Amino acid sequence: MPERNTCAIFVLAALFFGPSDTCRASVPLLRYRVHVGAELAEVELVLPSGARRLVPGDDGAGLGIHAVTPSQGRAVPDDGGFLLSGVGRGATVRYRVSLERAAATSFGGRLDDGVILPADALLLRPARLAEDGAEVTITSAAGVFVSAPWLRSGDHFVLDHDALVEGGWIAVGGRPPVLRTTGKTRLEIAVVGAGARAERLVRWVEEAARAVATVSGGAFPTARAQVVVAALPGQKRPVFGECQRAGGPSVLLLVGRDTDDATLAEDWMAPHELFHVGVPRIYPRTPWLAEGLATYFAAVARARAGKIDRPRLWHMLMAGAKDADGDGSLGEASATLGRHHDYDRVYWGGASVALLIDLALRRAGVHGGLPARLTALRRATHDAMDVVTAERVLAALDGGTGVLGPIVARYVAGRVSPRVALDALWPALGVLDDGERARLDDRAPLAPLRRAIDGQQP
Ligand SMILES: [Zn+2]
Repeated sequence: MPERNTCAIFVLAALFFGPSDTCRASVPLLRYRVHVGAELAEVELVLPSGARRLVPGDDGAGLGIHAVTPSQGRAVPDDGGFLLSGVGRGATVRYRVSLERAAATSFGGRLDDGVILPADALLLRPARLAEDGAEVTITSAAGVFVSAPWLRSGDHFVLDHDALVEGGWIAVGGRPPVLRTTGKTRLEIAVVGAGARAERLVRWVEEAARAVATVSGGAFPTARAQVVVAALPGQKRPVFGECQRAGGPSVLLLVGRDTDDATLAEDWMAPHELFHVGVPRIYPRTPWLAEGLATYFAAVARARAGKIDRPRLWHMLMAGAKDADGDGSLGEASATLGRHHDYDRVYWGGASVALLIDLALRRAGVHGGLPARLTALRRATHDAMDVVTAERVLAALDGGTGVLGPIVARYVAGRVSPRVALDALWPALGVLDDGERARLDDRAPLAPLRRAIDGQQP
């Protein structure tokens, strides 16, 4: 194997994860040793229970995995995986992963100074998993730095079952990931492809994290998160973002390398994705809820953090409510989002429902409104790492007040647009349509609720 750069990674990671994240399973774990070079990862996998067939992770799809060599028996390529014969308990399998090919899947890709690949692209695993997780040790060649989303424990990463099947992203590049501790949160920010813009993009992520803290009880919602930024040549705006939670909170942000400072300052995408980190994964997927909360709170967070002024926030919420109109119910549009792609309606319809819920909770006397209930939800779901149903999320947000049921029944399951309810509330909130911005009237009867939401008063 080439020269190693173990120390740097372990020191960086120890700073990031700290010693308290230890979480060991009592059953044997798959053990991976991964050595990452600029072009190739060499992997050694120990199989405590043996295996008859190895398959790639769902996201990585196995592209780029080659030279699969067991310490005993043999391996034959078979329908995207590898059929093993004579590979018993405790056997070792070595293989190589072409980073460029692995990065060709999903949203990964090769950029000027590195690659971004789905985290499971490096992990062949038994088709029938006898183990409940894995330990992964990563080393790298000199000058090559690796950022992984997984939970750190001592000198290696600990992966639960979910992380073997899906998860966030691995960044491999010539620039070490930046570690930032804000409050109790350790943020690892890996920027690839940005050249001289890297520092500015790190700041962009930090500013988004600070904005999210304004709607999360004053602190970033989780103890740790990894953010991978891919700077794309020839683009001048934030392009796409995605958040993954399996194996650890991991956010991927694709942004044009030539995005100017003003556009970054105005951006909603980074706070939207970073907000997702603090809400548990909802299965079955319920976009009106997950995306509605993120859309609503990304807007509120930007106003609270001073990125947009308050008249603009309220204009945005007012204009967004108009996007909630449409055929059938919001719930139906949400359930068919994958087929009909009615994103504006589902995202802003959900955001409008979130606003209605926030107002109703505050009117019912819930101090801190919806952000306070989200904090309670996070506590009840292990730092938002649990997978939960929409019903459980709604019950937690309701907190026994009984205000959510009628709102969801009418504006999500029913065919009434939440815009109708908000149109009736804007005058009382002191939000008046004034073209590109809203005009705000602090003498309106519900103006204190509005000011509590946008952060002007507690
Ligand atoms: Zn989203």
